[in-house]
Amino acid sequence: MIKTIKDFDLNNKRVIIRCDFNVPIKDGKIMDDNRIIESLSTIKYAIDNNAKVILLSHLGKVKTEEDKKSNSLKPVSERLSELLGISVKFIGETRGSVLEDSINKMRNKDVILVENTRFEDVPDKKESENSEELGRYWAGLADIFIDDAFGTAHRQHASNVGIASYIPSGVGFLIEKEIHALGAVLDNPEKPYVVIMGGAKMNDKIKVIDNLAEKADYLLLAGGIANTFLKAQGVDIKKSVYDEESIEHVKELLAKYKDKIVLPLDGYGSESYEDALEVFYEDNINDIKNDIMILDIGPKTIELFRKYIDKSKTIFWNGPVGVSEFNNFAYGTKEMCRLLKESAAKVVVGGGDSAAAAISFGYKNDFYHISTGGGASLKYIEGDTLPAIKVLESK
Ligand code: ADP
Ligand code: MG
Repeated sequence: MIKTIKDFDLNNKRVIIRCDFNVPIKDGKIMDDNRIIESLSTIKYAIDNNAKVILLSHLGKVKTEEDKKSNSLKPVSERLSELLGISVKFIGETRGSVLEDSINKMRNKDVILVENTRFEDVPDKKESENSEELGRYWAGLADIFIDDAFGTAHRQHASNVGIASYIPSGVGFLIEKEIHALGAVLDNPEKPYVVIMGGAKMNDKIKVIDNLAEKADYLLLAGGIANTFLKAQGVDIKKSVYDEESIEHVKELLAKYKDKIVLPLDGYGSESYEDALEVFYEDNINDIKNDIMILDIGPKTIELFRKYIDKSKTIFWNGPVGVSEFNNFAYGTKEMCRLLKESAAKVVVGGGDSAAAAISFGYKNDFYHISTGGGASLKYIEGDTLPAIKVLESK
């Protein structure tokens, strides 16, 4: 049984909480603080229970010294201070005497935020490759470890799996909610079970289709994923994005799962990847007339997808079906939101961009669950045990 934060006596204890503060920051300003807000319940619980709270998170990708400049967590400490109504002390390093002294001086209910864990990736990927030395070092700073970063649960990093290997550990409220919701719907999905997959992370997603096709009754494909399938079928997709590397694999998938895979019939596009003034409608995706990129699905495809959605009992949706951040190509994704809201099926949305799209189009409360973890939720529905969760099973 995985322990949750409620199973620990936190009084007077140094507690590391691994949060997901991977928020968009532009010129030092936080553009969307949703993830910070979501993390508050676990942090507040630790404060209310007299812990000394040490927060860890990654932010963006840090590969060079230069990357550090734009990826500091300092703005997050300021926003957190406002939201919590207390001063959250920011430590501008990931190890060393300043950090250690600050922790030694903490009083109960104090909160500190440590600099971006991925600063440890320069030069030798200590965080991302789960260096034992780093995991042990961080674990040595605390009595208890609480993991509340679902978005990185599919990764084996020093700041999740590493620390959890060495001290008593459990999950926070966010991860608890995720595993509960995903498990309730997707461990034994009620059939018919439909997976809708779109977006642009083609290589990663196409790799999981074998697994999904074994579990799901139908796979409705769109976005760059569908383009790759169309290309593999010999369709001239003109300038549309697709993944060349996956073509041979996709041919096998098409042969093996031809009764399960459903591809778009029509689409909208433009000559380049922008919110172009001129939008072309192609009424037959197998015969694209203009020299364009397909950037959205059209009404015939919506109608086709609706037939599957209407008869399904469980739906997992990952990846926008078009370039939904552009008004001209948001039609398909908005229509999908509407159909899924009306559907009687249990709908789970997982995927950073698809979740953000559904929320920005006003559907935050209209589905059974919107997962905060794109890659993690995909791994979960594939049937994989997530490493950051697995390590907690034996704690
Ligand atoms: P998620 O984060 O939901 O898993 P991805 O990261 O795989 O989704 O992909 C999201 C991106 O896919 C969005 O930026 C969207 O604009 C893009 N996208 C969707 N459809 C297309 C398309 N037909 N051509 C190019 N990009 C697309
Ligand atoms: Mg994404």
